[in-house]
Amino acid sequence: MEKIIYLDNAATTKPFSECLQIYQECLTNFYNPSAVYQPAVLVRKKIETARANICKYLHGENGTIIFTSSATEADNLALSCFKPRANNCLAIFAGEHPAVFSKAKELENKGARVVYIPMGFNGSIKDIEKYIDNTTAFLSVMYVSNETGSINDIAKIVKDAKRINPKIIIHVDAVQAFGKISINIQQLGIDMLTISAHKIYGPKGVGALWVKKGINVSPIIWGGGQENNYRSGTENVAGILCLEYCAKKVTQELNENYLKVSQYKQQLLKELSNNNIEYKVNGENTTPYTLSITFENIRGEVLLHSLEKYKIYISTGSACSSKKPDNRTLKVMGLTDKQIQGTVRISFSPYE
Ligand code: PLP
Repeated sequence: MEKIIYLDNAATTKPFSECLQIYQECLTNFYNPSAVYQPAVLVRKKIETARANICKYLHGENGTIIFTSSATEADNLALSCFKPRANNCLAIFAGEHPAVFSKAKELENKGARVVYIPMGFNGSIKDIEKYIDNTTAFLSVMYVSNETGSINDIAKIVKDAKRINPKIIIHVDAVQAFGKISINIQQLGIDMLTISAHKIYGPKGVGALWVKKGINVSPIIWGGGQENNYRSGTENVAGILCLEYCAKKVTQELNENYLKVSQYKQQLLKELSNNNIEYKVNGENTTPYTLSITFENIRGEVLLHSLEKYKIYISTGSACSSKKPDNRTLKVMGLTDKQIQGTVRISFSPYE
């Protein structure tokens, strides 16, 4: 079989083969975790262990996890905790993923005041103090950009924001950060954090929102009261157990994976330079996992389809914005339309 070179790991990752075993086991132990007979109680215990373990991997023992159907749902659930009033506002980073951006737009359309924090040419937030005041009730900031891989300095953002308004609630979309850089929720001092299984070699259809103890969550799905009433619907047991497995593996292998992927990125850039290909890397302080790169004289789309013939898969931007006519993040960063058209995103994995 012809070898596939998959370089779109920011869109989704190839699941670990162990996920298949977890699924098989869950098909045998198929019981509803809310039932009260013994095999169902064992399934419930596994979910509770997964919840505690994922909190531990994130250093978030001062809170709990709400399992959801996706990171998109987790982001929506987080933002629904913002209650618009006449004298308050929601602040988000202008480069947020649509899971946050579109939800904020919806709140704005319904009359909420939303502040969009611009990003610099380097793709990350600067001067947050200019956009936050004592009316900013809720702030949502992504940890790592899905478009450029730029890392936001969350610890500094939290420090600055909480100095200006100690009551501010801070949510971090860490979908592109988890498993790539080390995350310590307690050190960051945040209130909520989103992760997704399919970005860390797990299945699609499972995400999680970590919530600090004492933060009031407003459910967006009502029903049987699962997930402590925060998210009704029978739990996706296999998905949750896969998320736990993958979270453990990427946490344990974080450092060696980082080095491996850094080498891939450097090697690729070196090859481009050796072949006198002109390019510009977008974003600063990026993780080695993502490379947003603009070429002078070639359209990203043409490059993508040329590589496709060799079974090399890259993207022209995040999969979530592929249905939208332009790239909001690159535009906000100041790239011209021509530069945006010449941009591709290459995202690496340390695993085969
Ligand atoms: N947030 C970020 C930063 C993402 O990159 C993605 C997926 O691309 C999401 C949220 C949404 O994740 P999911 O596909 O689990 O809904």
